[in-house]
Amino acid sequence: MTDACSIESKGLISIELALKKIKQTISPIQEKERVTLKNALGRILSDTPFSPINIPFDHNSAMDGYAFASIDIKPQQKFSLSLVGTSWAGKPYVGQLKKNECIRIFTGAVIPAGVDSVIMQEQIKKQGEIISFPANTMAKQNIRLAGSDIKKGTELLSAPKKISAIDLGLLASAGIYDISVKRKLNIAFLSTGDELCSIGQSLKSGQIFDSNRYALSGLLSDHNINVYDLGVVADDKTLLEKTLLAASKSYDVIITTGGASVGDADYIKEILDHCGNVGFWKIAIKPGKPLAFGKIKNCYFFGLPGNPVSVIATFHKIVVPALQYLSGLAIKKPFKLKAVCMSTLKKGKGREEYQRGVLSQNESGEFFVESAGGQGSNIMSAMSKANCYIVLPVASKGVRKGETVTVEPFEVQL
Ligand code: AMP
Ligand code: MG
Repeated sequence: MTDACSIESKGLISIELALKKIKQTISPIQEKERVTLKNALGRILSDTPFSPINIPFDHNSAMDGYAFASIDIKPQQKFSLSLVGTSWAGKPYVGQLKKNECIRIFTGAVIPAGVDSVIMQEQIKKQGEIISFPANTMAKQNIRLAGSDIKKGTELLSAPKKISAIDLGLLASAGIYDISVKRKLNIAFLSTGDELCSIGQSLKSGQIFDSNRYALSGLLSDHNINVYDLGVVADDKTLLEKTLLAASKSYDVIITTGGASVGDADYIKEILDHCGNVGFWKIAIKPGKPLAFGKIKNCYFFGLPGNPVSVIATFHKIVVPALQYLSGLAIKKPFKLKAVCMSTLKKGKGREEYQRGVLSQNESGEFFVESAGGQGSNIMSAMSKANCYIVLPVASKGVRKGETVTVEPFEVQL
């Protein structure tokens, strides 16, 4: 039996298949709203904006120097022109240059009519109001032509797109005041487990601090998401079901952690079956096998595992692409690179593994990765040291020191 069919016979599905099912289930957000540029960072552009102006607006100087007409150049010879004025950025020269005249000009200042060349100030000699130009002065240099960056009426950005800081600068350079974006996602999360103790309280034997809610609130922190922390719910089937049903009326997405496996106190899958639809339950990755995805009423549901490392890994591998899709974006493929592995890595059977690694680069630009430490799904110290996943395919039997591996750096954007 191949690894792939032994996995499927146990009801586990690959990430690719899970994402396919997610795309079949999720309808991307359609509602739009207008926001001013000040409020647009990280929002999802819904309509393509076009430039109402040429950028640059006028022909202007790329240098601090002297502006002149190229017909005054004496081929291969030095020549002199009379200085008759100045064009400042924001204060253009208003006169008309006559033959053998030039003006002082500064970067960004408008090029007056009849002028087509600028020379850098370092290349001339100035004696009173006479400017001496060197032999072989070039014509038509150092001018930024109107519309050479963006022509009036052309696309500034293409929708859908998550608005970056750079995009804000670009839109503002065209004088765009507001843009049309998709509405924000409303996402709630909660932890389940009788053993959970909230930080700020004193831990009793048998308890564990609820760390998942803090990791999740950080992972969900995004300009396009309103995040709601619903606290901790005990391992009580009736209470959990009531909480999830009520929450499904108010949010686009609910994320829970814990109780998603097959233990006697694990109710998540059963509840999803009872009051909603299960899209899939288990995925063939380590860490993070038990993950229930589905829908309760009109709300998408992710029942993540309880172990903190599994929560983060399943968030990165499944929830991030799902939220990209829901927000109206295309799902981004993870950025992968090859690195020489400086540790020996053990690998279990039957699942793709996302081991936690520390990626570095030497002075020649080569990438190296080493294990971040313990690979148990509860070992947060190693997860916190890590800056990447070392991806071991299902068929891998482990890695010897010095072998090349595939690495996915942690930079994940929602
Ligand atoms: P479960 O899937 O509910 O059986 O949980 C698996 C493991 O994760 C158990 O050891 C839990 O104590 C632990 N766990 C569950 N929820 C949390 C949480 N919110 N924070 C930290 N650890 C948790
Ligand atoms: Mg539990």
